[in-house]
Amino acid sequence: MMLRFKFQTKLTIVYLALFLVVMSVIALAFYRSVTQNVRDQIQGQLGASARTFERIIDDRVEKLAANALLLARDYGFRDAINNPDDQATVMSALRNHRARLGADLAYIVDLDDEVIATTGSGEGEPLTAAIPDEMKVTAESDGVAKRMVEIGGRVYELVVVPVLAPIPTAWIAFGMELDEATAREIKALSPIALEIAFIYREADGQYALAGATSERQAMTEFLTGSLPEAPVFGADFNGQDHLFWRLPLHASDDAAQISALLYYSVDVALEPFDPLVVAMVGILIGGLLLLISGSVVVSRGVTRPLRRLAEAAQRIIAGEYQEVDAPTKGDEVADLTMSFNQMVGAVQERENKIRYQAFHDSETDFPNRLMFEEMLEEQIAKSSSFVVMVIEIQQVPELRSVLNHRNINDLMVCIGERLNQLSDTSVARIATESFAFILEDASEADTVASLVMNSFMTPFDVASIIIDARAKLGLVKYPGDGDDSAVLLRHAYAALDKGRTVQKGFAWYDPDSDKSQTQRLSMMSELRVGLKNGEVRFAYQPKLDVATGKVTSVEALVRWISPTRGFVPPDEFIPHAERTGDVRHLTEWGLEAAVKQAAEWRGKGLELAVAVNLSTNDLMNQGLPGQILQLLKQHKLPASFLKLEVTESAVMHDMDRALDVLNMLAAMGLTLSIDDYGTGYSSLSYIKKLPVSEIKIDKSFVMTLAENEEDNILVRSTIELGHNLGLKVTAEGVEDEESVNRLKEYGCDTLQGYHISRPVPAAELETFLKEGGYVTT
Ligand code: C2E
Ligand code: CA
Ligand code: CA
Repeated sequence: MMLRFKFQTKLTIVYLALFLVVMSVIALAFYRSVTQNVRDQIQGQLGASARTFERIIDDRVEKLAANALLLARDYGFRDAINNPDDQATVMSALRNHRARLGADLAYIVDLDDEVIATTGSGEGEPLTAAIPDEMKVTAESDGVAKRMVEIGGRVYELVVVPVLAPIPTAWIAFGMELDEATAREIKALSPIALEIAFIYREADGQYALAGATSERQAMTEFLTGSLPEAPVFGADFNGQDHLFWRLPLHASDDAAQISALLYYSVDVALEPFDPLVVAMVGILIGGLLLLISGSVVVSRGVTRPLRRLAEAAQRIIAGEYQEVDAPTKGDEVADLTMSFNQMVGAVQERENKIRYQAFHDSETDFPNRLMFEEMLEEQIAKSSSFVVMVIEIQQVPELRSVLNHRNINDLMVCIGERLNQLSDTSVARIATESFAFILEDASEADTVASLVMNSFMTPFDVASIIIDARAKLGLVKYPGDGDDSAVLLRHAYAALDKGRTVQKGFAWYDPDSDKSQTQRLSMMSELRVGLKNGEVRFAYQPKLDVATGKVTSVEALVRWISPTRGFVPPDEFIPHAERTGDVRHLTEWGLEAAVKQAAEWRGKGLELAVAVNLSTNDLMNQGLPGQILQLLKQHKLPASFLKLEVTESAVMHDMDRALDVLNMLAAMGLTLSIDDYGTGYSSLSYIKKLPVSEIKIDKSFVMTLAENEEDNILVRSTIELGHNLGLKVTAEGVEDEESVNRLKEYGCDTLQGYHISRPVPAAELETFLKEGGYVTT
């Protein structure tokens, strides 16, 4: 709306302004030329009429003069004048002439300026006027004198001739009034309806009106103002613009005193042009309307599509992608619309891509955790019960040691596809090592879980590498185990924790064990206290050297006897300590205890190397070698008396960092062992890269040596391979004589197990070693 208003108004205003400027220029030019033209015409007409007027006056004066002369030369008349008794003759002659001329004045003055005869027209005293001396002089020299005179507010043409005998004896005066009839006569001769006024100047210099063709009152008033002296002038008269032509009558000394004013209204003259003005105003209004509607149409043509684009842009902000139809073709608006549509497409595509990326695992294209959470919420909204299964792939770090990143991704894709065949909903990869899916039928959950476990029995073929992958499962049911996706997933992971430890490899969420989770946390704080209080001690298990029958080293195994919990087996608290990071305190404590103990034994002449177990976190601790060096110095113990046992998975977790630490430790002269060999993704070829000198075959293979032929083969080949790599081999979990014999036969270097000795306190160990003759003292 805003847009339309602004643009349209702007356009209209600009058009309007231009139009008005052009129209005003035209109108002004038109008006000027018309008025000028009209004025010129009027002036011309006035001039022509003035000349006519002069001629008529001249004619009349000539006629008066001719009659006056005729009379003056008449003998009879001349005699009669000089004869006072013949007054009647004079009067009759005067009357005759006057009648013939239609004169208004006719009188005779004697040399003493006495009127001796006069005739009047109509009632009242006949008019006479004193004859000025200069007229008499002129009349005597020229035979006749003519002049305009004013008598009683009227203007007359006066003609004077002398009566000669032969010198002047009297003066004959004839006069004719310049009356309105005369004026009308002239007016009738003019092609325009001009007006005429006769004016004279009074003694006080003010002009007065003697007669006018119309508007006497207005003219009288007009004359009270100062009258311009110019022969032609324009002035406002009677409310209208008039053009005046001033005609001085009978140029003589005071001729200017009496004049005729010929005038004509310019406004009236302009009247014929009124229709033209109306037409022009009409054109102006019509033009304005056309212009406004035109600019509205034009700007609409622009603003409507712009408005639609703006609306479409608003919709895009709201997440609604819609293309806009181009209202026109081939113009800028169409181009803009096209670009806009292209942009809409591009934005939509990008958004789809971003959305896709946000909701999919970039490595495998499976739905990711975010998407799975949404799927869960949708499932919660639509169904009353279902089961969520979380599948964790085991030993991924170990797999990474033999497979490259691509292979791992391919493996994950294979696993995901296999899982997809067993699930109702699509499988999501919710973490690097775990998948999840929803089972709509809760009653089938156990079966499906078994099927999933089974599906991992078949190895995966990735880039022609046959891979054995293992999985552990955790299951939760809705609504029993949680109301929302977050709780369900957290509990599914808790179930998975349990699933890792049980034989069948999967477990349902157990609220009780979740309770023990919080208990475990409090256990960790108790452990920290216990480490300081002496609740934690080492038990030492001897390692028997097969070749010599002596014991040169022992493994230190932690024993925690809590005042509240009693004996807590290491497998129950160490995995938690590793998760919470508390294992660091245990390691610090253990290293010091072991070094101290070894130094003490050495002081007694008992040369026993002590092996301490390290966990994953310890291998990530770059400060560890420094700490150990410090301890060895402090207790003056040679490095060869301290051994360290690490598991493969601990090394694999972050091979580079672990190698840094291990290389430093080996360089310090410590002996390093690979613990629990055979349980992880064991590969001797990679162990070759590690600075270790011993592998310990896991007790799970050794304990069953007497019964299980397969284990015999495995143990035997492991021993051989280890030797080939220049490593010592220890077998742990030696529980019977039979195993001892076989291990000896296979060439095993060291034996460790209940059959030789259980892990025992230091003092007990000393007795055992001395009494058993395992040490030479
Ligand atoms: P491990 O390092 O494999 O230690 C050997 C385990 O096997 C010990 O269990 C030992 O008592 C047991 N064992 C020895 N001979 C036999 C046998 O003949 N038969 C049977 N069935 N078992 C035998 P333990 O002491 O319960 O320790 C369990 C695990 O706890 C250890 O496994 C080790 O990984 C961890 N651990 C123990 N002490 C520490 C420690 O101080 N620090 C760390 N980080 N881990 C420790
Ligand atoms: Ca060990
Ligand atoms: Ca072990």
